[in-house]
Amino acid sequence: MAVDVSWREAAACQDSDPDLFFPDGIAGPALRQVEEAKEICRACPVQAACLAWALEHGVGFGVWGGTTEAERRAFRQPAQRNHSSAQTTTMPAQVIASAASVASAVGGGDR
Ligand code: SF4
Repeated sequence: MAVDVSWREAAACQDSDPDLFFPDGIAGPALRQVEEAKEICRACPVQAACLAWALEHGVGFGVWGGTTEAERRAFRQPAQRNHSSAQTTTMPAQVIASAASVASAVGGGDR
């Protein structure tokens, strides 16, 4: 079965510097890159689809759907999803709901 990635055609990051979304490291300049990438994601019309895809496929590196690898890992763990990420994230509610739905369907994290 073919995977539908048509949402990528509307991605706000199409013309952005890939280094923003795949920073080298987790401190210093990398943190600024992540925040810059997240700012682009917040304005992206396909943020929910992107995040859902990353969760569904267990994407382990980079900023996808406005989240880092650690944030996606928290989404995939039900207890943390309910108590930390959803409360501290700045993502729109519909993105959180969509991601939570996908994470439940995926099974809650085996990574
Ligand atoms: S949510 Fe972010 S990473 Fe995903 S397509 Fe949109 S801009 Fe790119």
